[in-house]
Amino acid sequence: MSELSDLYQEVILDHNRKPRNFTKLDGANRQAEGFNPLCGDRCIVYAKVENGVVQEVSFQGSGCAISKASSSIMTTIVKGKTPDEAEHLFEIFHNMVTGKETASGEDLGKMKVFSGVAEFPSRVKCASLAWHTLKAALEGKGEPVCTEKDAT
Ligand code: ZN
Repeated sequence: MSELSDLYQEVILDHNRKPRNFTKLDGANRQAEGFNPLCGDRCIVYAKVENGVVQEVSFQGSGCAISKASSSIMTTIVKGKTPDEAEHLFEIFHNMVTGKETASGEDLGKMKVFSGVAEFPSRVKCASLAWHTLKAALEGKGEPVCTEKDAT
């Protein structure tokens, strides 16, 4: 394993041990639930959207290190973004974890730690669950998200 992926693994383990924004959000006006039956990952994403901006976002749930770390990092990234910007970030993230070419110049930031997931197709759903759930929350869908029904 390269030094770079060791570093990435460190970040994922850190977020798994100490997930950020791992709480029920008081005053949330968006909420959705996600489930990845392939791995058993579950998450609930809470968001507070005001004045067209995601003011606060948090999550709860249980699952593998990748799903938990991805949820944790997702909450730190989308805070302060508009729902459109959040959706755009999801696209970038999704392209990256599925190994598609991302537009050059896109700033992946902390999401880059999941670039190695592209080599493990079975983990793509773990990494993208939180983002699918966020999207459902922002779109105000009442239906729980199941990665088996959605495209990865
Ligand atoms: Zn998982």
